[in-house]
Amino acid sequence: MIAEKLKPLMANNSAVRAMFEEGNRLRAELGAENVFDFSLGNPNVPAPDEVKQALLDIIQEEDPVALHGYMNNAGFEDVRESIAKSLNRRFGTAFGSRNILMTVGAASGLNVSLKTILNPGEEVIIFAPYFLEYNWYVDNYDGKVVQAPTDRETFYPDLEAFEKLITDRTRAVLINNPNNPTGVIYREETIKQLAEILDRKQKELNRTIFLIADEPYRELAYDGAQVPFVTKYYDNTFVVYSYSKSLSLPGERIGYVVIPDEMEESELVFDTATAANRISGAVNAPSLQQKVIGRCVDAAVNLEYYDRNRTALYEGLRECGFDCIKPEGAFYMFLKSPVENESEFCNAAKKYNILMVPGTSFACPGYVRLAYCVSYETIVNSLPAFRKLAADYGLA
Ligand code: PLP
Repeated sequence: MIAEKLKPLMANNSAVRAMFEEGNRLRAELGAENVFDFSLGNPNVPAPDEVKQALLDIIQEEDPVALHGYMNNAGFEDVRESIAKSLNRRFGTAFGSRNILMTVGAASGLNVSLKTILNPGEEVIIFAPYFLEYNWYVDNYDGKVVQAPTDRETFYPDLEAFEKLITDRTRAVLINNPNNPTGVIYREETIKQLAEILDRKQKELNRTIFLIADEPYRELAYDGAQVPFVTKYYDNTFVVYSYSKSLSLPGERIGYVVIPDEMEESELVFDTATAANRISGAVNAPSLQQKVIGRCVDAAVNLEYYDRNRTALYEGLRECGFDCIKPEGAFYMFLKSPVENESEFCNAAKKYNILMVPGTSFACPGYVRLAYCVSYETIVNSLPAFRKLAADYGLA
């Protein structure tokens, strides 16, 4: 017997598992080099050398009792201070350890933020397309997701429509910048407009509305694109960060949440979020990984690797006649399906051993997502297959 609430989750899990197994079956049958698997957002660039060195040094140098023991549920003070200083250097903020809560990656940071602020039945507005796990996170606290539209040419938020969705049930707005699945980066102008709307609505409704900025892809921004640091534009902001992508450490489960002094009842929110971290079952972020971050706050993965993939895939697909916008960040491309039913298009692609995720998995039918965190050779070798696929739809 399982909980009623989780039955739909398991139905969805079977679909994801089926896709994963399909990839494994094709690889076993044809050899990995002949399968063009763009389905998973698992970084394939190794973690920077500093991370390995930090791990070795920490084991040698740190007191094992303190290193492996229970700690303040917010995380090690010195690590939080190092992160705060790094943010201050980069974004001109004035954070201290009191503003940084260490979490078990962004997934946990989002859950902690939502657990801290949501009452049952309250609404969280999210711009579609989006990372569909958000639905489960909101549901964990009996909240309700309200989908807001984006412009289909740019995938920028439709702010006029958004404003109309804010009601006396709205508790939070969740944005993801740079964006999974579109690769779009919301620039300063958009963040400013969004913040103005929220400020106005807070006053009008006499109600606190939080902005949660999910930023695991912050460091993956190409051509010098700037990702605005949202606490500078809106006071009631949680910034949720993770090292899963920026340092290629998704299995290590390490990230943090920023809770700025400017937030209403900031100290109470911070203490509540710290307790929420504890009772969510995570208790605290893994200590060894926290210490690694403390020594590697300014390290970064090789961005050129993803950038080369981005250009090769984008240009290759455009030459085939496919329609998509050039991603500015993250490592995803969101391609317009040449037919309305994009699952049909995904199935047709499998004929050429191309694996992609239907847009329905991101609340956006009619598109497919390609994760280009694969080898450069996979991209180059996939292009003839894409050409054949395009020809089937009369594109190339
Ligand atoms: N948010 C978005 C938009 C993601 O794409 C992901 C992972 O792919 C996460 C959050 C979760 O990241 P983490 O591994 O840090 O929990």
